[in-house]
Amino acid sequence: MRPDILFPLFRPVLSLKGVGQRIGKLIETAAGGRLLDLCWHLPRGIVDRRYRPSVAEAREGALATLTLEVVEHQPGPTPRLPTRVICRDETGFLTLVFFRAKGDYLARMLPPGETRVVSGTVQMFQGAPQIVHPDHILAPDELDSLPLVEPVYGATAGLTPRPLARAVRGALDAAPELPEWLQTSLLTTHGWPGWHEALIRAHAPEGLADLAPDATVRQRLAYDELLANQLALMLVRAAARRRKGRVLAGDGALRAAMEAALPFPLTGAQARAIKEILADMAGPDRMLRLLQGDVGSGKTVVALAAMLNAVEAGAQAAIMAPTEILARQHHATIAPLLAKLDIRAELLTGRDKGKAREQALGRLASGSARIAIGTHALFQDDVEFRDLALAVIDEQHRFGVHQRLLLGEKGHNTDVLVMTATPIPRTLTMTAYGDMDSSRLDEKPPGRAPIDTRALPISRLDDVIQGLGRARARGDRVYWVCPLVAESEALDVAAAEERHGTLKSLLGEGVGLVHGRMRGPEKDRVMESFRAGDIDILVATTVIEVGVDVPEATIIVLEHAERFGLAQMHQLRGRVGRGERPGSCLLLYAEPLGETARARLEIMRESDDGFIIAEEDLRLRGAGEILGTRQSGLPTFHLADIAFHQDLMAMARDDARMIMETDPKLASERGAALRVLLYLFERDAAIAYLGSG
Ligand code: ADP
Ligand code: MG
Repeated sequence: MRPDILFPLFRPVLSLKGVGQRIGKLIETAAGGRLLDLCWHLPRGIVDRRYRPSVAEAREGALATLTLEVVEHQPGPTPRLPTRVICRDETGFLTLVFFRAKGDYLARMLPPGETRVVSGTVQMFQGAPQIVHPDHILAPDELDSLPLVEPVYGATAGLTPRPLARAVRGALDAAPELPEWLQTSLLTTHGWPGWHEALIRAHAPEGLADLAPDATVRQRLAYDELLANQLALMLVRAAARRRKGRVLAGDGALRAAMEAALPFPLTGAQARAIKEILADMAGPDRMLRLLQGDVGSGKTVVALAAMLNAVEAGAQAAIMAPTEILARQHHATIAPLLAKLDIRAELLTGRDKGKAREQALGRLASGSARIAIGTHALFQDDVEFRDLALAVIDEQHRFGVHQRLLLGEKGHNTDVLVMTATPIPRTLTMTAYGDMDSSRLDEKPPGRAPIDTRALPISRLDDVIQGLGRARARGDRVYWVCPLVAESEALDVAAAEERHGTLKSLLGEGVGLVHGRMRGPEKDRVMESFRAGDIDILVATTVIEVGVDVPEATIIVLEHAERFGLAQMHQLRGRVGRGERPGSCLLLYAEPLGETARARLEIMRESDDGFIIAEEDLRLRGAGEILGTRQSGLPTFHLADIAFHQDLMAMARDDARMIMETDPKLASERGAALRVLLYLFERDAAIAYLGSG
């Protein structure tokens, strides 16, 4: 249960005085729906009213606070024209301009002959300074109430700064003092204040330096978030470890037969990874291991070895892919190999219905099928295994942490192996997969020519299309990828359809189209024709998923390459050059290219190592944008910037480790405070594991 002390923070924004439905909705869009979200909504900028020039000194365009004597009011000759209030100081005249001023408002605010402090942006109009609708008008004795520096918040269309700022202030007023979860020594070393003070100060920047991620109080808040992340992962991990696993040690017969049946020897990295996995499986604890390997690094064989180990030990194994296409593809490559070993591989996806499905279910329940390949349909309630000992999850980033654990529930102390083709920088691996052990395939199968990568402006489109005409005549097969960019998928699909139309009209038959709005069977049909060669140019949205394998594909064109993330380009590039013939990749970009986009294209031309590319991606963009964070499965942080705060992350990890060693049940006084921290960052799920096991 969430501690009472945090309740105020979890109240809805609507509970704030002065926030009604309409504003509430807008605030929810801009920051989030709860007071907590407003607290996390740190200022992006400042309004600085400390510039106090005389009229003669006032710079055009500057935000200035001036002390003026009101001279006279000049109402507009018609109601649509503005009222002008002429003011002065000893150095000159300045006009205040008001459109549609109401009633006696101006007369009250600016009585002629009186002195007023006025703050607003100075403009020049016909050579004379003026301020249109000043932000503040005060009597000199009210000067104290003028906010000299105000925070500016990221807003949203239709939301003006004031109600948002007022709501944030309301949220801060509701923020409680919380018990200290950090060690005093850490606070002293970094000069960090307590959580509450840090929060208040983070919302009261006095200069631009206070907005930077290395500002003292921002560091403290970021550290809290990272610590919550690390501690939560370690709690999950510890709980997973406490759950009994089973000893799965096969005799190696099937694995040896598989290796003999493969037309190639294993790479060193594959052999290493298999060894690590088998050691986990042979141990008494539950395996929870991540296998990271670039596209084409040969993860399938590693997974197969692990599954065969389970089968040798008399149990069953399953491999789950995130999409129908990928599941079918796995089945197509794995089943024939297993057939040689006399093992039946069952395919089970959401699309299988009726009798065939029932029979498949029967074979899994009876154990006559030893290996299952499928989508999440594998883990629906009506699917029963006789004895599932190993679950392999491919392309993990589409599944969440909880699904990971759920998988293990299908069988009897099921080991879990997660595979991802998204190479993630080491520091990020920690934040996303800190609950798992990890193996890396950092060596590619030999003999593949590197993919020839070039960048061309889209103005060369005609040349490119002609080149494709020649290439297909030589037997090349081409992916043409259009990015997903617009808010609406429909627009993206329309762009792909249009490109499909152009290519078809210029290149004739054999140009296909596949996109995310197509229904499954239709998609499969198109992919199948591409695989079979009936289609040799395939226009696609990014739906040509990670992992789709058509070895004959040799060329990939990424249209609007500047809109892709580095890692995404790299993944897509991995679609080609998988077969006998060398691959090439054309990055078509629209000009002008921004600096970051240019750097990205440059890196693509220079490197084909996914791990290096991932590090560069992090360096160039910050993790917030990496691969479109949502897709990558990386946790999103409100306060921490994973690109910038890597040192804090390492500290948080060490801190969390120490906590797990000294107080794994979070039973001490600090432990109690740490529980509050976990709830604050909504890592409640991790707290549940404290009790279990
Ligand atoms: P991943 O899933 O990691 O992207 P795959 O497992 O699909 O990669 O393997 C990519 C290709 O490399 C497949 O055609 C596979 O047969 C081949 N392959 C795998 N291991 C080796 C190896 N040790 N030597 C040569 N080719 C290999
Ligand atoms: Mg794969």
